[in-house]
Amino acid sequence: MICYQLLCEHDHEFEAWFRDSTAFDEQAAHGEVQCPFCGNDQIRKAVMSPAVASAKDVQVRTSADQKTAIEAAEKAASDMRSGADPQEAAQTFMEVVSKLQKHVENTCDYVGEDFAEEARAIHSGDAEMRDIYGEATSEETEELRDEGIEVISIPKLADKEQAN
Ligand SMILES: [Zn+2]
Repeated sequence: MICYQLLCEHDHEFEAWFRDSTAFDEQAAHGEVQCPFCGNDQIRKAVMSPAVASAKDVQVRTSADQKTAIEAAEKAASDMRSGADPQEAAQTFMEVVSKLQKHVENTCDYVGEDFAEEARAIHSGDAEMRDIYGEATSEETEELRDEGIEVISIPKLADKEQAN
């Protein structure tokens, strides 16, 4: 799953989740991505802010809460895409995401821009096994996935955004 910051023709900004970058391109080309505010389907990617990502597979123990939160966010995102009332779906999505962000913040170590490096170190056993989150570009995230490190992207945490 990848989260994009998107803009419609009227410069409404919103976030949406996609399976991968190809899925976004395809759905946008077919007019399947719509602005939750006005329904416009001329959607483009906003300048990419660094994604906050948590490496799911580096967990010491399975966190049921986290899994549930991620699944809820994915479901809300898919409702948003599949024609549920866009306003309502967007609201649900934002609520779920904000819960997920809190959860990540409470249970994962913040590693900032060292995210990709640290995720690799944990994956290879060179660093302590733990959940981490931090900033990664979409390229870094793709690379990590290619290396078999499972990473999820969530919208940037509000307080970290202010800290920047
Ligand atoms: Zn719009």
